[in-house]
Amino acid sequence: MKVLKFGGTSVGSAARMKDVAKLICDGEKKIVVLSAMSGTTNSLIEISDYLYKNNTSGGLERINTLQQKYFDVIDELYNTPEYKSEAKIVLKSHFDYLRSFSKSVFTLFEEKAILAEGELLSTAIFQLYLQETGENSTLLPALEFMRIDKNAEPDTAYITEHLAKQLSMYPDTTIYVTQGFICRNFYDEIDNLQRGGSDYSASLIGAAVVADEIQIWTDIDGMHNNDPRFVEGTKPVPVLHFEEAAELAYFGAKILHPTCILPAKLGNIPVRLLNTMDPTAPGTLISTKSNSGKIEAVAAKDGITAIKIKSGRMLLAHGFLRKVFEIFESYHTPIDMVTTSEVGVSVSIDNNKRLDEIVNDLKKFGTVTVDKDMVIVCVVGDMPFENVGFQAKVVDALKEIPVRMISYGGSNYNISFLIKSVDKKRALNALSTALFN
Ligand code: ASP
Ligand code: MG
Repeated sequence: MKVLKFGGTSVGSAARMKDVAKLICDGEKKIVVLSAMSGTTNSLIEISDYLYKNNTSGGLERINTLQQKYFDVIDELYNTPEYKSEAKIVLKSHFDYLRSFSKSVFTLFEEKAILAEGELLSTAIFQLYLQETGENSTLLPALEFMRIDKNAEPDTAYITEHLAKQLSMYPDTTIYVTQGFICRNFYDEIDNLQRGGSDYSASLIGAAVVADEIQIWTDIDGMHNNDPRFVEGTKPVPVLHFEEAAELAYFGAKILHPTCILPAKLGNIPVRLLNTMDPTAPGTLISTKSNSGKIEAVAAKDGITAIKIKSGRMLLAHGFLRKVFEIFESYHTPIDMVTTSEVGVSVSIDNNKRLDEIVNDLKKFGTVTVDKDMVIVCVVGDMPFENVGFQAKVVDALKEIPVRMISYGGSNYNISFLIKSVDKKRALNALSTALFN
């Protein structure tokens, strides 16, 4: 069985939903995971914001505007009056539920329940449409099987068991439609897998049913070898190793949520990135296979801060790095890049919330320097250390650009550079010319 996930823009209008239906109805058994229609999750966040602030009329006004948008969609989506009126009843119950929150105290718990409505709506109207077209389909409630544990990590045993139970209730169904993003937490409350989490849902579902393949359908034809917003003539990368894809997803390729790779990788289930606007394009296949000895792609991550701690005490000392890292840990701030010398260490972080406290504590150990507005440029490919020439080529491409940190050897698949934001475009273009042209 395959798992196919369609993002918000792929189901962003009645016309796009019809396209998706055409794409998936081929008689093969599959699970289809949907995001909320594009813009909906943001609207729901805005609605919650009004309700947090006790602005009931503001919240209700936004709910009604959103409801009108959905009424327009169903008007266009269904062909028969029967289905139009059935869809109206479905919509009404969802929006009445949303309106009910204006009468109660509003906390994070209520907000999460509101956010879940986006995916509940998109899947409900889509599955109803499949039904109208005569397709053999079932709506599977993700809240019955998708679950996170105490640490907000997916409870894979629970997911596997309860998804199997749900599927076994409808053995003759061809297309199972379910919600991405939403789940229940350890306390059985409605929760979610964080923004962009529908990819993660698809990957967890794929792993749970040991799918033949997980397909992530978006609006571009796969992961590109460079950032199309800054470099002209980028191309989709046909084949990537799980680890290459994970690096790219984390370092900026927006097409895939970084968390999505792990469950697929652990279950050894290939992930294919495909384009709803061009369904026959090959896209990108992510699996255990890589093109050996090839540099595949370049990506950049913005908003990075570099912190250097220089200390005579580091010389020949042990335990110095641990003390430094512990400070970051105590402020729940993950470190991305690390480079060391005998007298100092530089690290990079992508979250400045606790920066002042971190710097203050680090001063116990040495002289601290902070550089903000930096970018990590990451070169991804199959680069085991026995191969020669890779670093030379990459470093040479950046010969005109001031480089703050370099990191290689953390994996066989990545070389990272920390540079100033102002140099990002120049760096991405220089690498493109040197590596791909
Ligand atoms: N609807 C959610 C969001 O906008 C999840 C997703 O689309 O992946 O973040
Ligand atoms: Mg997404």
